[in-house]
Amino acid sequence: MAPDSSRKTYGDTVTAADLRKHLSVLASDDYEGRETGEKGQKMSATYIADQFRSFGIPELKTGGYYQNVNLLSYSAGEGMVSCGEKTFAFGKDFYYTAGAENVDVKATELVFAGYGINDKKYSDYGASFSAKDKVLMIVAGEPLDKKGNSLLTGSTKKSDWSTQRRLKINEARKSGASVLLIVQPEYEKAFEDNRHAIESPTLRLDMPKEKNEKKGMVVIYISKTMADELLKQGSATNTIDALMKRMAKKKKTARHTSSGINFSVVINRIPQKVVAENVLGYLEGSDLKDELVIITAHYDHLGKHNGLVYNGADDDGSGTVAVIELAEAFAKAKKDGHGPRRSMLFMAVSGEEKGLLGSSWYAENPVFPLANTICDLNIDMIGRVDEEHLKDSNYVYVIGSEMLSSELRGIMETANNSFTQIKLDYRFDAPDDPNFFYYRSDHYNFARKNIPVAFFFNGVHDDYHQETDEISKIAFNLMERRTRLVFYTAWELANREKRITADKKK
Ligand SMILES: [Zn+2]
Repeated sequence: MAPDSSRKTYGDTVTAADLRKHLSVLASDDYEGRETGEKGQKMSATYIADQFRSFGIPELKTGGYYQNVNLLSYSAGEGMVSCGEKTFAFGKDFYYTAGAENVDVKATELVFAGYGINDKKYSDYGASFSAKDKVLMIVAGEPLDKKGNSLLTGSTKKSDWSTQRRLKINEARKSGASVLLIVQPEYEKAFEDNRHAIESPTLRLDMPKEKNEKKGMVVIYISKTMADELLKQGSATNTIDALMKRMAKKKKTARHTSSGINFSVVINRIPQKVVAENVLGYLEGSDLKDELVIITAHYDHLGKHNGLVYNGADDDGSGTVAVIELAEAFAKAKKDGHGPRRSMLFMAVSGEEKGLLGSSWYAENPVFPLANTICDLNIDMIGRVDEEHLKDSNYVYVIGSEMLSSELRGIMETANNSFTQIKLDYRFDAPDDPNFFYYRSDHYNFARKNIPVAFFFNGVHDDYHQETDEISKIAFNLMERRTRLVFYTAWELANREKRITADKKK
């Protein structure tokens, strides 16, 4: 496409100054870290809705700009694990971070399987490993040789098996285990590092459960002392230290099985109802108005803990203010008679940090038919530069753009070549990438419904999910350029003659 003048006029209305103006509100301490269901989240919803109104975007047919997301909140710190006579206490002996809201699991067998790694270079499992209905115990981290080098990387650098917790959990799930116990050799440090997640309530959608929904594997992190107690129950003399030493010496996994034990996990938390809001700015299209382009970003973040406010300037204040700017640009274009042919939905969702809840709710309770929703462009963290790009910061990671449609990436690349000239980095763009970014933000709930998606992202950095994710660290000029890339991509998607197809469905 040639850079025609009208789209450029409106693309230019996305400015660093405006992005800064909005972010200095939403990422301020007054907004208390925008935690789902809390005051700061409600204040943010009001702010975003007020912006939509000021741009002349009309309220939804149902009134206002909100879609209520009904949630259940389960308080943290409950639960009991026992084995035989021995009982263990939450906090002192074990913790979990999420996903264990109501559990009653018993097992009679425990299998120790080393580090729970299954890699070409090193495996704790082997070909026919099964832990069906058993308790599977593994150790956090990875095997090291005498010099302290990892058997996987050959150096002191840790492999993904140490840094990406989902990898081990996914492997364990394949074994059919009902409970995964991950031994933290440095339990107190691990608890401290994860205190935020451990002490936050778990939120879930308040929806009738699918009838045939399978009970998931329970994941619990435990201390070495607790692990040793459990190993003892099977009458063995093994300890975690002894098993780890054996593995280091032989440079291979160690196995231990306890049978006839009486293991039980009971977590029974009483939920409370919580309502969060998705904020929707709907701009009706012209001749193709039945079709819809969605642009999403989550506006919730981690709230306040121990007197610290987690402002989430990058995560995902940056995406939220980008959505506000995009809404303004398209609303202005429409006012001037250059409105999009297809309709557009600018949606700031909540509950993302608690498990993509707001977008999941929308996907199950769509306000506009999913069958006519042609794509979702999702923005989650576009205000920073990661370590890989300190030298040349003119980049953005794009994830998912080729997963469901053979056309979306090309459209985005043409828009980029014509207007924004950002280096598009696709290194994380694979469903089996060890970081699993494809599954980790709101676009995934649209992809799940076979709607083509593209996810714009600057990668993680030291301030990710820390109280130091502050506005002072945001690169606004770069953010302007990245937001404009989304603008030009969306413009083309909304105005082109033919709807993009989801031709790569699986
Ligand atoms: Zn995020």
